[in-house]
Amino acid sequence: MITSAPNIDSIEYPFPAKPAVLSDAEKADYKARIKQLLIEQDAVLVAHYYTDPEIQALAEETGGCVSDSLEMARFGRDHPAKKLIVAGVKFMGETSKILSPEKTVLMPTLEATCSLDIGCPIDKFSEFCDAHPDHTVVVYANTSAAVKARADWVVTSSIALEIVEHLDAEGKKIIWGPDRHLGSYIAKETGADMLMWQGDCIVHDEFKAKALRELKIQHPNAAILVHPESPANVVALADAVGSTSQLIKAAQTMANQEFIVATDRGIFYKMQQAAPGKTLIEAPTGGNGATCKSCAHCPWMAMNGLQAIEASLSAEDKTQHEVFVDDALRDEALIPLNRMLDFAKTLNMKVKGNA
Ligand code: SF4
Repeated sequence: MITSAPNIDSIEYPFPAKPAVLSDAEKADYKARIKQLLIEQDAVLVAHYYTDPEIQALAEETGGCVSDSLEMARFGRDHPAKKLIVAGVKFMGETSKILSPEKTVLMPTLEATCSLDIGCPIDKFSEFCDAHPDHTVVVYANTSAAVKARADWVVTSSIALEIVEHLDAEGKKIIWGPDRHLGSYIAKETGADMLMWQGDCIVHDEFKAKALRELKIQHPNAAILVHPESPANVVALADAVGSTSQLIKAAQTMANQEFIVATDRGIFYKMQQAAPGKTLIEAPTGGNGATCKSCAHCPWMAMNGLQAIEASLSAEDKTQHEVFVDDALRDEALIPLNRMLDFAKTLNMKVKGNA
């Protein structure tokens, strides 16, 4: 029986091949074909902030949306289209299917996964929870449908603090999974009794505090924006800590003209739209050397290329693209998800903001 969270440092991630580089003419052809197929199939493209800028632009041009995973799922649920093309990673397709069971949910590739999801397999996580039956299980949205179904609460990064504060005030002890950095940040802010699963996001885990301090010396007037999936010594240097949507808002509303941004660089597309004229600088990672696995861009998000989107719409055999969630699992996963949404209503806030 597992009584402490397993160390996942030894996990070897199956990094995917990068999509083929396309010429401008090929890109134009794929875009035209995708636009036509979306109309013919009554489909809408929803893209995550971390996908490549041209995919985000295509979602906007075609009446889709660019957002965080929960907002993507809600947009898909509320949009009249019968088919959702989810450009993101697999747990995002699952969340969309959970909220829109009657719709066809397709992904450019079902192989686009997430280190938090891979690092939190349901059998091990469930064993860990079973070993601590007196704890309330709170999981981040970046998990499989099965892990969500095992939880008491699902949270996003924009409401995690409030929910953990609420549970702490009720005297609850908490199992937190899977992101250890986000969990540590919340434990520090709330003082709650939290037992951590030891997962991490390979993108945020690689931001480096020493190099960030050096970069700040070169840009003394820049504000540092940090997503809380980053290590604690990076979060400690931040002028603003928050979810993807909160960081975009910070770039828009803070008076600074320069920002050093510690999250996936895909966010620069929407951040620059929100803060035109301001300078956005990537926070330093391990670089191209030995330790950098992602270099501030999620390799799984990068799988959502134009070719793959076109294939999801045109392939006769959809087995590489269609997302299914078992009905019973969906019903179970909806309970902790709705608990979060109902709690958000009591705070009168719109829940946004997982990675
Ligand atoms: S950026 Fe990190 S949390 Fe987001 S999908 Fe990639 S590995 Fe997962």
